[in-house]
Amino acid sequence: MNYIVFDLEWNQASNIHYSDNRMQFEIIEIAAFKLDEKLNIVDEFQSIVRPKLYKTLHPVIKEITGFTEEELSRGQDFKTAAQRFVEWCGEDYMFCTWATQDLSELQNNMRYYGMKLVDKAPLLYYDIQKLFSIQADNNSTRRSLEYAVEQLGIEKKEEFHRAGADAYYTAQVMRCIHMEQVKEVVSIDTFVIPRNKKEEFSICYNDSVRFVSRGYESRSRLFGDKRLMSVKCPKCNNRVTRKLGWFSDGSKTYYYIGECANHGYVSGKIRVKKSPFNEIYAIKYIAMADDDEYAKIAEKKQQIKEKRKIKRK
Ligand SMILES: [Zn+2]
Repeated sequence: MNYIVFDLEWNQASNIHYSDNRMQFEIIEIAAFKLDEKLNIVDEFQSIVRPKLYKTLHPVIKEITGFTEEELSRGQDFKTAAQRFVEWCGEDYMFCTWATQDLSELQNNMRYYGMKLVDKAPLLYYDIQKLFSIQADNNSTRRSLEYAVEQLGIEKKEEFHRAGADAYYTAQVMRCIHMEQVKEVVSIDTFVIPRNKKEEFSICYNDSVRFVSRGYESRSRLFGDKRLMSVKCPKCNNRVTRKLGWFSDGSKTYYYIGECANHGYVSGKIRVKKSPFNEIYAIKYIAMADDDEYAKIAEKKQQIKEKRKIKRK
């Protein structure tokens, strides 16, 4: 399997009134490095894309990237560039990006042109910003690419904020990450969510399971799904006994505590989300929990109860 470390630059309407909702950000550059399993760079990809929707560069984008309209006008059209990119990626690969936006934007641009990126949904990838954070900051904060490059003593060759340079630096940061320690930390891009029950999927880690549901037309439909609401022990897959039933903190997150007869407490968390196509879906996270976790969730439930009491008075 290869890693495809890629980065995009995009432009947007200079005047918000001329922004097209279907493609708010128009890709103007795609760059990528292909790394083998040992993280050696084996190939690179680069394409400047001629914009169709926003031909004038937004002043901020112009400033940051250093692109000129003239330079872009000599680029490839998006469909050709994206097609080339997809073919270049090959068959067996995992996408890697700095932070979380690039995969969604790539897919959104492809959707605009009626192209299809992947058959499978949702898409798994490595967020190198997150992996760096786990390694350098105990996952407490998200840093800029430039910060990571400086911190790791990576030689700076080109200016940041061009796709080629940023993809190169992201690949170099990745090469400094102990992948064997974080390989379980996959991110899920949910630009396309599972379309049916069969496509719904779980990722199983040692002590936890993440599940992505299909889309529903409403929240009540979503919560009517028994499979989504059921909680099993991540270690033995047996149903757990309910200790604190699903409750909401008033936002879009729901909590649960159960107990496995063999392995102790199990916590559940459901985040309700809305897809770009306005479907309601959920990401469920089930993990082994200890007494502290139980106490924390119980306290949260108590606080919410009390808040409601005050409201009623
Ligand atoms: Zn168990």
